[in-house]
Amino acid sequence: MSQSARTKLTETNSAPTGVSATNSVPANLTETNSVPANLTETNSVPQSTGVLVGALARHRTRLVPVEWGGKVLSIGGQAPVLVQSMTNTDTADAVATAIQVKELALAGSEIVRITVNTPEAAKEVAAIREHLDRMGISVPLVGDFHYNGHKLLTQFPECAQALSKYRINPGNMGGGKRRDDNFAQMIEVACRHNKPVRIGVNWGSLDHELLARMMDDNSKLAAPLGAQAVMRDALVVSAISNARRAEELGLSPNAIILSCKVSHVQDLIAVYRDLAARCDYPLHLGLTEAGMGSKGIVASTAALSVLLQEGIGDTIRISLTPEPGGDRAREVVVAQEILQTMGLRAFTPMVIACPGCGRTSSTVFQELADRIQTYLREQMPVWKNQYPGVESMNVAVMGCVVNGPGESRHADLGISLPGTGEVPAAPVFVDGQRTVTLKGDHIAEEFQTIVQEYVSRRYGARAI
Ligand code: SF4
Repeated sequence: MSQSARTKLTETNSAPTGVSATNSVPANLTETNSVPANLTETNSVPQSTGVLVGALARHRTRLVPVEWGGKVLSIGGQAPVLVQSMTNTDTADAVATAIQVKELALAGSEIVRITVNTPEAAKEVAAIREHLDRMGISVPLVGDFHYNGHKLLTQFPECAQALSKYRINPGNMGGGKRRDDNFAQMIEVACRHNKPVRIGVNWGSLDHELLARMMDDNSKLAAPLGAQAVMRDALVVSAISNARRAEELGLSPNAIILSCKVSHVQDLIAVYRDLAARCDYPLHLGLTEAGMGSKGIVASTAALSVLLQEGIGDTIRISLTPEPGGDRAREVVVAQEILQTMGLRAFTPMVIACPGCGRTSSTVFQELADRIQTYLREQMPVWKNQYPGVESMNVAVMGCVVNGPGESRHADLGISLPGTGEVPAAPVFVDGQRTVTLKGDHIAEEFQTIVQEYVSRRYGARAI
């Protein structure tokens, strides 16, 4: 093990487990179950922590508890929409995987999925869980199974036990009776270990037999649907029929989550609308193979924001392809920013910055906006416990007098930097009032100090 790996494994930072946000459900809806009384619920919704409230009617879903180490996180029901992510390390390398899980959890991932594809990977799952527990990383692990999950979960019971949830892809389990037997075997393991399951259907691995049958039936109709419509329908039918089959095999309906992932925005919206109309299982949203960079972010945001706005979706994952050497945790940040900018949850204080224009002749305000956003995000692992409610704070960093003072007044804290030709002074606004004016070469440091003092003064009093 490298020294840096050793160092990372022995750090004791705690993962973000407190979920201080809320989503409303219609008053006429009731939860379909509750979390076990002997477990600590980590995403209950405190009403007094300055959180954002989304004014949306949530699609009614069951509540599925996900347990680990005496804790429980709820998916669905009236629980906040959760952020999850997935590692891209070789799971057989327990140290590397534990380190990446830790990084994702510290970035704000509330559930982390790991690939379990070989006996070597399955053997290491319990060790990964132990590494995380030793580091104080309190995040549930989900095992991602394809093709051989029935064998791995049966042959490695310690793996089956260490995972908090299983992801099963019914399209990757063989065909005919073999498929049914393999599926039944996985559900039996889930029942025996009391684990919830996500039945995750995917466009790229849709059950061919089901699709062929539905295409055939469609062709006999007087007015057959297009192939695209049949394909969308087949995804939904596959997910729901497998969920019903899991229930017949003994799995509680309160242990089932569904997903139907596709790679095109309009398909995803259509499929999830249909899925939500036809079942009350919690829904895991994500545009699969979203792609790299801005394309992946834009496509995911376009699809998920339409569905979330309609109250559809209980947990989200953004499937970004990292650039070579890129940060895997970016998918977590994007997921958080989608939920926060929509007003559904709050994770990190947000910086409002103008785009700049011909009135700014330097990069000073861009650098300050970047510095403050980075500073705020880096503080959150400590601040979230120390300063409840700080995640809802807004900080404005503006480039000139045109919109600077006005936008700064609307934020909790704001600074209006001087544009080209303006007096080289930067007025600071606190809770809408102009306070000091910063000048000289240390505006960034001085403003950061003002931010820190404001956070301590305003949110420190709320700490329990
Ligand atoms: S606030 Fe000033 S610098 Fe920023 S975009 Fe508007 S006019 Fe340009």
